Amino acid sequence: MISQNIKKQIVEQTNIVEVVGEVVKLTKKGSSYFGLCPFHNDKHPSMSVSEKVKMFNCFSCNTKGNVIYFVSRYNNISEDQATIILAKRLGIEISDASSKEALKEERLLKVMNDATNFYEFYLHNTEEGVKAKAYLTSRGITDEIIKDLRIGLASSESNLLNQALKKNNHSELDQVELGLVKIDNKDQAYDVFRNRIIFPIENNNGQVVGFSGRIYTKSDQAKYINSSESAIFHKGQILYNFHKATPTIRSNDKIIIFEGFMDVIAAKKAQIPYGVATMGTALTQEHVKNILSLTKNIVLCFDGDSAGIHAMKRSAFVFANYHIIPKAIVLPNNLDPDEYLKAYGSQALNNYFSQNEKNVYQWLYDLAKKDFIKGDLESVERFKKEVFECVRCSKENTIIEHFIKMLASDIEISFESLMNDFGKIANFQPTLKPDDLPKNRVTTPKEVRIKRKIFIAYDVLLKHMVYSKLKFIEFMDKMGDELYIDSSLTTYFEIIKKMEVFYAENELMDEQDFLNIAKSLDLPNKTNDYYVFAKRILDNKMINLNDSDEFEQCLNTIQKCWSDLSKTRLYNKALSSGNIEDIQKFESLRKENVKVMSKEEK
Ligand SMILES: [Zn+2]
Repeated sequence: MISQNIKKQIVEQTNIVEVVGEVVKLTKKGSSYFGLCPFHNDKHPSMSVSEKVKMFNCFSCNTKGNVIYFVSRYNNISEDQATIILAKRLGIEISDASSKEALKEERLLKVMNDATNFYEFYLHNTEEGVKAKAYLTSRGITDEIIKDLRIGLASSESNLLNQALKKNNHSELDQVELGLVKIDNKDQAYDVFRNRIIFPIENNNGQVVGFSGRIYTKSDQAKYINSSESAIFHKGQILYNFHKATPTIRSNDKIIIFEGFMDVIAAKKAQIPYGVATMGTALTQEHVKNILSLTKNIVLCFDGDSAGIHAMKRSAFVFANYHIIPKAIVLPNNLDPDEYLKAYGSQALNNYFSQNEKNVYQWLYDLAKKDFIKGDLESVERFKKEVFECVRCSKENTIIEHFIKMLASDIEISFESLMNDFGKIANFQPTLKPDDLPKNRVTTPKEVRIKRKIFIAYDVLLKHMVYSKLKFIEFMDKMGDELYIDSSLTTYFEIIKKMEVFYAENELMDEQDFLNIAKSLDLPNKTNDYYVFAKRILDNKMINLNDSDEFEQCLNTIQKCWSDLSKTRLYNKALSSGNIEDIQKFESLRKENVKVMSKEEK
C-alpha cells in the first residue's frame, strides 16, 4: 500500500475539478462544480466537485471522496494504481517502500492474468480440453458462460503452468507466493492445480486474484481446491462474481448471496445475474460493506441442511448490525441451485426464486416451529429459546414485538409474560456510547450529536429519579412510552422498569438500592455493564439535584431532540431520494424553521 502521506501529497497537488472534468461535464455553480454522477443512473446533476475542499460528493447515491477515490472507482482499479496514475500526471515519481508494495501487487496481478490466459488457452486448444469441455457442456455450462467467467483447464502434467510463466519472465518466487506452484523435496517446481477445471476468482476491480479448481475426471482427490491467501487474495474481502454482477445488482437493486460459486453459475444459467458467493468463509463485515454500497435488498440463498441454516442465521445477524433485514430462499428437499436446475430446468429455478422470498426472521421462526409440539413443556421451552435467540439479534423493536406476539399466540402464553422472559435473557448492549451507533447510512454526525444530547438528558433524569419518587411518577406520565420507541434507550428502559417495581413497594430509594437494581440486570458470567452504567450516573457531579428546573428542562430537551432527530432523518431521506425539488423544498422549510426558532429563543 502506498503511504497515506504520499496520497495526501497527490490529493493536494492535483486539481480534482480538472480530473473529474475530463470524464464528466461540469458546470460551475457558486464555488463548486456540478455534473451527472457516473456512479449511479443520474438524471439530474447530483454530483458536486470542489477544488477548495478537494472532494467530490454525490448527494444522491452518497458516493464521495477525494480524487484518488474518484479515479479508482471510475476506472475500476485499486487506490494504489490510481495514485500511481495521478502521480505520473503530476510528474512525480513515487519511490518509497510503500510504492514497492504497490508495484509488487501490480506484478502479482500480471502473473495471475497470464496464468488465467494459459488455463483458458489450454482448455480451448488441447486434447484434454476437449474432454473437459464435454464435461462442462454436460453440466450445462455454455461457451458463453465459459468465456464470460474465463473458465480454463489445468493440465494433468506436472509443471506446464510453471514453465509457461517462466517463459513470460515471472519469477518462481511470485508463483509460489500466489500458491500456483510448490517445490517438492527434490527442489523441483510443480503446479498446484493439476487435471482440474479452473474457475478464476476476481477482486472487486475485476482482476483475477485466485483460482478454484474442480476435478472433472474420476478421482479420489478433493472435489475443489482453492488458491491460498496471498498478498492479493483476501478471502474475507472477496465475493465471487461481485465485479461482474455490479451493474445488474445496481439496476435490479438486489443481490443474492449463495453458499458456493457453482450456485452463482447455476443462477446465471437461470437468467439471475446478480448472485455472489463467499469463497469458503463466513460473511464478513468487509463483504457486507461492499454489498451495501450497491443495494440494501439482500437475499440469502443457502442449503437447508444444518450448515446452511447456521450460515443463514450468522449472515442475518451480520446484516442486523446495519439494520438490514434480509430475505431468505431455501430450495426444497435440500437441493442446491445447481441440483434443482438439473432436476427441473432453468425456468423452474427462475420461477422458484421470484416466488419464494421470505423475511429471514419469518423463515427462522417457521423452522423453529416445525419441531414444536403443543402442550409439551420441553418443546415449548426449545421453541421459545430459538425464537428469542433469533429476534434479539435483529436489534429492531418492531421485529422483536412482532415475533414475540406470534410466539405468544402459538404457545398460548401472554405477550407480557413472554416480553418479561425475553427481557431477562436478551443480551442487550447496555453500554451506551453515541459514537457506537450503527455506522450505516442513517447515522449522520448531526444525528449522533442529537442522540448524545438525548443520552445526557436521560442521565440527568435518571439521577433525579433515584432520589425522588415524585419525579419518577412525573417522568413515567410524560415519557414512559418514549422508552419503547428507540432501541438505543434499552439500558434506561430496563433499569426504569425495575425501578417501577421497586417504587411500587417502597417510598424511598437510596444509592445502594439503585446499584442493586442495576446489578440484578447483569447476566451471570457477563461484564457488569448495567452496574457500571448505574455507577456512572450516580457519580456524575454535573447533575445538581437541588436544581428543580433541571429536571423539567431535561424533559423538554428530550422531546425537542426527538423531533429534531425525526426532521434530520426526513432530510436525509429527501437527500438520498436524489430528487432536487424535494431537497430544495426541505431546505427552505428548514431555514424557515430555524428563523422561527431563533426568534422564539430571543
Ligand atoms: Zn451518484
